[in-house]
Amino acid sequence: MTTDKLTETIHRYVKELCVNITDRSPGAPGNRQATDFFDKTISSFGFKTACPDFDCIDWEHGSVNLKAGKDMFEAYVSPYTLGYSGTATLAAASTVEELTQSEIGGKILLIHGQIASQQLMPKNFPFYNPDEHKKIISLLEEKAPAAIICATGKDPELVGAMYPFPLIEDGDFDIPSVYMKDVHGECLLAHAGTEITLDFMSKRIESKGCNVIATKGPQDARKLIFCAHIDSRKYTPGALDNAAGVATLLALAELLADYKGPLGLEIIAFNGEDYYAASGQIQYLAANQATLKDIKLVINIDDAGYHDGKTAYSLYQCPETMAQLICNTLGNREELIEGQPWYQGDHMIFVQQQIPALAVTSEQMGEALANITHTPKDTIDLVNCGKLAELACGLKDMVSELTKSVK
Ligand SMILES: [Zn+2]
Repeated sequence: MTTDKLTETIHRYVKELCVNITDRSPGAPGNRQATDFFDKTISSFGFKTACPDFDCIDWEHGSVNLKAGKDMFEAYVSPYTLGYSGTATLAAASTVEELTQSEIGGKILLIHGQIASQQLMPKNFPFYNPDEHKKIISLLEEKAPAAIICATGKDPELVGAMYPFPLIEDGDFDIPSVYMKDVHGECLLAHAGTEITLDFMSKRIESKGCNVIATKGPQDARKLIFCAHIDSRKYTPGALDNAAGVATLLALAELLADYKGPLGLEIIAFNGEDYYAASGQIQYLAANQATLKDIKLVINIDDAGYHDGKTAYSLYQCPETMAQLICNTLGNREELIEGQPWYQGDHMIFVQQQIPALAVTSEQMGEALANITHTPKDTIDLVNCGKLAELACGLKDMVSELTKSVK
């Protein structure tokens, strides 16, 4: 296939995933449409597919009505929270110590200052969860405020330049919460000790999602895994993050349609990278624990194809000869360079299990992460499908070389 034709094909995939389909967040109808599309398309290239289901929730919400004395405050519903409607005394805490000492049962709690400076990890998130976060969550559950108002600034660890950011984003945490700007929180603090009114609708809708796992070649041999997360953050088109990565996987699958090599191939559309519970990733690890050792290399594509800059790859725990071979094949191409390591994507769940990994993203990912990712600005016009076509061709070459090196 010519590069022009491949570029066109990739553009069609990206368009299907982030324009024709809206909202690929797990549990939403668009998420199921996206996994169906991936399944159908990759099957047409002779891959066998499995789509194991998992439980997840979709989320619906209204606007927030927050009133203290004569003042109305602007606030936003925390993603995946339960709703609340009531009048109660306002209490406040800005440190773990204040939280430990305060009487907040049945009150509306304003969390502000130091304790609200960093997004709290979801309580059941297994890959990374600092003790400080667990402590705050368990104190809140033990003391049982009626509802929580989080006054936040910007969290430099969070992508998309969100201000304010949701301190709590957790469908397993059952105390209703909203969030507001830190400067408005300071004004609200003046009402501590008085009765305030908080009212908002927020609903969890039980649903299902699935990974799509496509395989070709011998499945008892050591295998190569290519993955990209197919879910998007709620209410965002998720073009760079990560329709682009998924489209690249589909293009690669077509290039590998006639693959007959000695290594097993597994191409996975992961479902849950941008979802609080990382459901697809957790399900995959649990189901494949026994065969993780057979994985020769995991290649994860996330936020690739940004119009500005080149495509950057980084290596993790690759043996020297494999690293050489990867750098020789990918590095051969004009559009591909070795870039900075990054430690947030789905490759890390494999790196944590001592499996060699290769991550592919955009050289200018920092720029995208700071301004675009996880916002409605992540649209198709930012994606350069020619760069993705070049990447798919580079990865196909890499498969050929890796296959040759297997005796
Ligand atoms: Zn992503």
